[in-house]
Amino acid sequence: MMKEKIGSLDLALCRVCGGRCCTGSPGIWVDPERFFDLFFGGDHLTLDQLREQLPALGLRLWTIRGVPIPAPGSRSSGCASFGGEGCEFTVTERPCQCLGLIPNKETLNLDKGCLCKMPVGFSREDGRLRWEIYWQTINLEEHERVTIDQ
Ligand code: SF4
Ligand code: SF4
Repeated sequence: MMKEKIGSLDLALCRVCGGRCCTGSPGIWVDPERFFDLFFGGDHLTLDQLREQLPALGLRLWTIRGVPIPAPGSRSSGCASFGGEGCEFTVTERPCQCLGLIPNKETLNLDKGCLCKMPVGFSREDGRLRWEIYWQTINLEEHERVTIDQ
């Protein structure tokens, strides 16, 4: 689902815009499978393992209504991964929400704010639900592995 959304990017428009969305809150990786494919070769990490590994990636763990979700850091100027050259991630690595956001050229006519739209399935709540299921599944698998090893 997430990969096809790369096709809706309008990098030319976003370059003219200068990344207004990146000066707000960073996007998140809504899809845990995509996240682990991108950064861990498809290995599924436990929460403790992910906590250990995230600093090396320059990422943080957000907690959205009790559910931990990896995301870029944030600062007062917006996403911590937004540098002078734009986004520090390659296009394919970017958070699902960043790739999912549908650019709207009318945004360029605004002094501030953004008319670009997040499609269905890419909201924070969608991400929270998917990560909640992921953590439940990995905890069960870990419990089974420990039980078998004992
Ligand atoms: S998605 Fe919208 S706000 Fe973000 S860079 Fe593109 S045009 Fe600007
Ligand atoms: S990860 Fe990249 S595209 Fe997404 S908000 Fe941060 S700088 Fe912008």
